[in-house]
Amino acid sequence: YSLDLFSYPSHYAGDLDCVIVPHGVIMDRTERLARDIMDDLGNKDIVVLCVLKGGYQFSADLVDKIKVLSCNSNRTIPMRVHFIRLKSYMNDKATEDLHIVGAEDLSFLTGKNVLIVEAIVGTGKTMKTLLKHVEAFKPNMIKVAGLLVKRVAQNSPWLPDYVGFQIPNRFVVGYALDYNEYFRDLNHICIISESGKLKYKV
Ligand code: 5GP
Ligand code: MG
Ligand code: MG
Repeated sequence: YSLDLFSYPSHYAGDLDCVIVPHGVIMDRTERLARDIMDDLGNKDIVVLCVLKGGYQFSADLVDKIKVLSCNSNRTIPMRVHFIRLKSYMNDKATEDLHIVGAEDLSFLTGKNVLIVEAIVGTGKTMKTLLKHVEAFKPNMIKVAGLLVKRVAQNSPWLPDYVGFQIPNRFVVGYALDYNEYFRDLNHICIISESGKLKYKV
């Protein structure tokens, strides 16, 4: 969508090419995902594992929607929320070594039903690494919710259990997704412009 159809912070004027998922559409889709999660996991006790930093907005909104649905239903999900921080990107390129920042002991996940909430999946490498790490603590069940999945040419693409949107293989920002820590303060998911990349390059 053309940017002039939307409102966005004026400090990002010129830094974006277009909107690919407007905020309102994200919210509607997130509610649908919350319903699907309720249908599958209703009455199970779950631990939401939010993948920081990019996943903070999506997990907050997803938990919010599940919370609201739980108020009007006999199928509810008691949720605990935890955070894990992964870092792999510099500018718009993945660095070889993904690492878990301030890795803590996840042994409280043993025997629990875990819902990993991630904003975006590209090659799936990050999620596969995280899954291996979480599996080592022997949870009862692991499901993954990914708001965005890039259409990457791959023989056997890895997909989350719950997918919000499939998007083109372009670098996107907004809705907590960053480019060198900028653009998290943007509601819509947008494609960054070449001049935006230059402006915030490190
Ligand atoms: P993957 O390992 O699946 O290729 O990459 C996943 C990770 O890379 C995500 O956790 C996210 O941090 C980052 N990432 C991949 N694509 C994008 C993108 O278009 N925008 C932003 N901001 N981060 C991305
Ligand atoms: Mg991330
Ligand atoms: Mg990032």
